[in-house]
Amino acid sequence: MTYTIEKITTLIGAHHYGENAADVAFILTDSRSLCFPEETLFFALQTNRNDGHKYIPELYQRGVRNFVVTDVPADRAETYPDANFLKVSNTLKALQRLAERHRDEFDIPVVGITGSNGKTMVKEWLYQLLSPEMFVTRSPRSYNSQIGVPLSVWLMDEHTQVGVFEAGISKPGEMAALRAIIRPTIAVLTNLGTAHQENFSSMEAKCREKLVLFHDARTVVYDADDAIVRRIVSKTDIQGETIAWSRRDKNAAFYVSEVKKEDAMSVVSYIYKGVAGRYSLPFIDAASVSNSIICAVVALQLGLSRDALDRRMRLLEPVAMRLEVKEGQHGCTLINDSYNSDINSLDIALDFMNRRPDHKGRRHTLVLSDIYQSGKASRELYKEVSDLALKRDVEKFIGIGPQLCAQAEEIQLPEKFFFHTVEQFIHSEVFRSLHNEVILLKGARKFGFDQVTELLVKKVHETILEVNLNNVVENLNHYRSFLKPTTKLVCMIKADAYGSGSVEIAKTLQDHRVDYLAVAVADEGVTLRRNGITANVMIMNPEMTAFKTMFDYDLEPEVYSFRLLEALIRAAEKEGITDYPVHVKLDTGMHRLGFDPTADMKRLIDRLKHQNAIIPRSVFSHFVGSDSDAFDDFSARQFALFDAGSKQLQAAFSHKILRHMDNSAGIEHFPERQMDMCRLGLGLYGVDPRTNAMLQNVSTLKTTILQMHCVKAGETVGYSRKGVIEHDSLIAAIPIGYADGLDRRLGNRRCYCLVNGKKAPYVGNICMDVAMIDVTGIDCREGDSVEIFGDHLPVTVLSDVLETIPYEVLTGVSTRVKRVYFQD
Ligand SMILES: *Cc1c(COP(=O)(O)O)cnc(C)c1O
Repeated sequence: MTYTIEKITTLIGAHHYGENAADVAFILTDSRSLCFPEETLFFALQTNRNDGHKYIPELYQRGVRNFVVTDVPADRAETYPDANFLKVSNTLKALQRLAERHRDEFDIPVVGITGSNGKTMVKEWLYQLLSPEMFVTRSPRSYNSQIGVPLSVWLMDEHTQVGVFEAGISKPGEMAALRAIIRPTIAVLTNLGTAHQENFSSMEAKCREKLVLFHDARTVVYDADDAIVRRIVSKTDIQGETIAWSRRDKNAAFYVSEVKKEDAMSVVSYIYKGVAGRYSLPFIDAASVSNSIICAVVALQLGLSRDALDRRMRLLEPVAMRLEVKEGQHGCTLINDSYNSDINSLDIALDFMNRRPDHKGRRHTLVLSDIYQSGKASRELYKEVSDLALKRDVEKFIGIGPQLCAQAEEIQLPEKFFFHTVEQFIHSEVFRSLHNEVILLKGARKFGFDQVTELLVKKVHETILEVNLNNVVENLNHYRSFLKPTTKLVCMIKADAYGSGSVEIAKTLQDHRVDYLAVAVADEGVTLRRNGITANVMIMNPEMTAFKTMFDYDLEPEVYSFRLLEALIRAAEKEGITDYPVHVKLDTGMHRLGFDPTADMKRLIDRLKHQNAIIPRSVFSHFVGSDSDAFDDFSARQFALFDAGSKQLQAAFSHKILRHMDNSAGIEHFPERQMDMCRLGLGLYGVDPRTNAMLQNVSTLKTTILQMHCVKAGETVGYSRKGVIEHDSLIAAIPIGYADGLDRRLGNRRCYCLVNGKKAPYVGNICMDVAMIDVTGIDCREGDSVEIFGDHLPVTVLSDVLETIPYEVLTGVSTRVKRVYFQD
């Protein structure tokens, strides 16, 4: 569906500058995701961290001609002669307004889903249940925010027969805006959890906010077994029909009379509006069963027959939420996305691949299965796929499935191959010759794409460190929220990004526009450059032998002593380099490295002034105890010393020298000392250094059970007979030892890991490559997953037992443990 620029001007009440005819089909809020410039309308959003207006020149250059702005460029007529600028007072509101007006075009059922957990699963399952006969437009992945919701609703077009959208909130007052955009005819509250509780005075308050979605809906659906939800619903003025589901209340509109587990299936018996029914689904966990109940209520309400419901419930597929990045065979990197295949999620995955820079030479390859999407003719659909792949710089296309084989002509890529099945692909020369490529695997589960991944991924032992890139970004934003929009940020990715792997973390941080990345030694910087990182890189411990490398790779050293300074100047002069940026460190009390901020300043300034090989780009110091109030007085003294010394340096130069001192704890504790820049370390990786509480967990160290033994009372486990067994026990061996970074001092029951959510203590001495754990009484078997630390077992539990800090445990995970990265 397209709108003329005049129409949009009217819809959002803008002032139109530039009289150029244009049709708009795409909306863009993030300049990096641009795909079809000619038909794109860019909204220059302003957040407390960034301002979209900055990207207008670049976007114009790339062909975008339509912009929604709060400030029209002064040089509009000369610089942007053929562009349209729509001036509004608030660009986010304008985006939301446009989505509202777009929504007005549709008189069809629209489902709005809110709740703390399960929104995405309910949305995707509803799609699976309804899409065989209806064309469903839904939020891509979990686009459920103030920006994500308008972008989702914008996707409705003339094919759409039902809309299914998520609404996520984190603060009071947000739901009203989302409700006006989605205008659900059926509103659903999945459940009430603790997420974002810090922003609400109580659970009740959060529930009331979520229920704003219910106003004006024709039907509202909620869990009557949750006392808070029931109470707040009863006190809320609800116009429409209420459908409560309950497993306890026989009078509920949807009464679940029984949930029976049979092998790997759950059989749910229900009474809906007085009539008994039953369906089976291929999952047995409690969350899946609850989510299926919600889906059943909504699907029946939308007119799906009970028979069809049962038939389709049996075929429900798990919802893979994550894009995984894995190292593959033969120099390949795999991006694995088994999220339901449809064109919107394909676009997001291609965008993700493109945003991760790569050293030259590696081609981008797309392996795609048939896309199931009713309503669109397959020619049209695959032509769209082809356009998208071309625009997103895919060079090689591998299509799998009968539809793709039939539509091979529509795919306009220079290199293309088609196979009816995954088996044919795996046994082909095309598969064998995959080499030095970045491969996006995007396939519907039923095509068996798992086999492809398994064959392509490098074989390693079964211990992995899972790194959640979304949570890195969450933590980044958490710390950015303490800072002024103009304050720059250095992200510390030394020690292999505190153990999580510097290259992938750097790609994510660069994509989120941090100002500097900092590593310890030159080689770490070279690795970043070789992997396509172009951001500014700071070297904290520059080796005298590596100056040439730093110059060659554009890495900016820290200087902390006269000896280093002289050597650096000499090296730069020898290369004929001028004005090479360096970062001056002052020692204000750590007494580790740095110039004396009083005694050394005169000589330092004098030396810097009498050469032109290097220039100070920044000046900084480091707090010794910003994590503890006990050192506040000392911190104040450190700051005063730094303030004086750094101002003295600045006064000697006419160019701006960035001043910085705050680390993670400092950002939170002394935001007033943020100056020009801050240095974020541990907090980025999910640990609040001041409280040792977890922020959003980033790294999860996982392994699997190799073997299980029944061990009789009186026997011992492991070396030196340390693990004495007192009662007959079930002991499991796991393939992780002290050589992987599992500290030997955690053994002999001093700490535990988690097996299926239950604590399993380490028994006996931890060996080099294997450890033994007590799983007596835990429902588990060989091959089950074991969490050493991570999402459910904070790393601080281990560091506390070891009487150390989480930094040491995180950085201690050996490099032989494979890192797997994922993003929602
Ligand atoms: C490691 C480091 C940081 C980051 O410290 P965190 O406590 O992890 O935030 C900041 N500045 C310097 C100089 C560092 O070496």
